[in-house]
Amino acid sequence: MTVAIGSVPAMAGRIAEPEPGCVLGAAQRAVAPRDRDALSPAQVRGMLGDLRRILLAKFGTADEAAFDPARRPAVAAAAFAINRLGGKIVIPVRFHVITNERLGRVPKSRVVRQVAALNAAYGGRTGGADTGVSFRLTSVSVTANARWFTRPKQNERAMMTALRRGGRGTLNLYSAVVGVEVLGFSTFPQWYRGRPGLDGVVVDYRSLPNGGTAHFNRGYTAVHEVGHWLGLLHTFENGCVPPGDGVADTPDEAAPTEGCPAGKDTCPAPGADPAHNFMDYGNDDCMREFTPGQARRIRASWAAYRAPVGLAARTRARTQSG
Ligand SMILES: [Zn+2]
Repeated sequence: MTVAIGSVPAMAGRIAEPEPGCVLGAAQRAVAPRDRDALSPAQVRGMLGDLRRILLAKFGTADEAAFDPARRPAVAAAAFAINRLGGKIVIPVRFHVITNERLGRVPKSRVVRQVAALNAAYGGRTGGADTGVSFRLTSVSVTANARWFTRPKQNERAMMTALRRGGRGTLNLYSAVVGVEVLGFSTFPQWYRGRPGLDGVVVDYRSLPNGGTAHFNRGYTAVHEVGHWLGLLHTFENGCVPPGDGVADTPDEAAPTEGCPAGKDTCPAPGADPAHNFMDYGNDDCMREFTPGQARRIRASWAAYRAPVGLAARTRARTQSG
């Protein structure tokens, strides 16, 4: 679908989206077929503009630092009361194992390890910033359906209509065979109001911890895809062209990282490529971090799109009174 989203009125409709939502791929991840899925600069500006408009409308500020509890407690206290757990954003995870009876039968122990990988990555325990987000596994369903298993993207509507649980703040995470060239796909929070029934993340079952995909089996495909679900773009979004990924502390990057290079710096703007970032395309053994700027983007996106309804009103009242 191609829509000039710069012309979409604020908060009026759905955001233009590439197909599929994300394309974290394996061996051929940097080759031409992936290019059609890149967001254009206009799409990136549209998505970032949508976020700013919604933050302004809901909270009276579009300053993402305002959603950092250390900087602006008046706003942040309400924003992070979401789960009443000391400022943490705790995301319930509904995990859906899809099989064809024979393949894809992910045991619950591996699902638990996948959620642990999410918690380590988003908690800053792999080397990056603590995003303040954690995940709580609330259910595991197992469904035998050969069509959904082998072609989850083509069957996403039927699959998600049948299996999806919860609202805008619930992560529905599916494992299936995503494909040869890609390991996962996801939705952005900006898309939720246009297609809530398709909100979620799908990963290849072999990308889960100890799965069968060499170099991509630490569960970081899900970490990457959930990054999109929480509002992050690729670090190489738009290459060297502003606004890049719209995050100040992820230096511009001309193209996705492949493998795990010792170092690379592909854009004239200052800073080496963020090759170890979860939102790049490096091997799982290369990925280890989110940045503080990405953590702020996640929290702002959560407040804008995924926090429970009613949060904004309480926040505005508190901001105005305090
Ligand atoms: Zn991606």
